[in-house]
Amino acid sequence: MEGWHQTLQPKLGKLKPGQSRATKLQILRILDQGNRFSQRLAAHIRQGHVRLHFRRLAFGYEALYNPRNKIIYVNSRMTFQRSKGLYRAAVSVIHEGQHYFDEIAGAIRWSNDPLLEARAFLREAQFARDIGRPGYSVFGRIRARSGSTVAWNWVRRLYGFP
Ligand SMILES: [Zn+2]
Repeated sequence: MEGWHQTLQPKLGKLKPGQSRATKLQILRILDQGNRFSQRLAAHIRQGHVRLHFRRLAFGYEALYNPRNKIIYVNSRMTFQRSKGLYRAAVSVIHEGQHYFDEIAGAIRWSNDPLLEARAFLREAQFARDIGRPGYSVFGRIRARSGSTVAWNWVRRLYGFP
């Protein structure tokens, strides 16, 4: 599916019934603390241009963006009870938010495009740095530890890019 964001396995938990709204507000508050991009995305979510929903996603997915209904789905099986899960979710929302902004700007919609993925990974890494949690972007963590070439090779393998 277009716009999906597969990362290392999220820690499995369960969003309690009735917890979705509060969790969404917590994620929005983290976006508010970030940078101009994350604040702009938070505004688009609050205005309903793009929506944030929780859904049980396949194992290994933290979030995905569906351009048909303009919804960013966050995996409801992530552990949100601790702040780490919230910040990880926020970083994934930033990645999908880049896909959303590219899509509304008229970029390719239905195929995974290496250039668009590169933009999304750079965006999430920048956001993670800006909120003082650089390691919460898996891409950013690999790049910091092993360098850009290794990080981009990780993306290529993950997405099956040549
Ligand atoms: Zn992506």
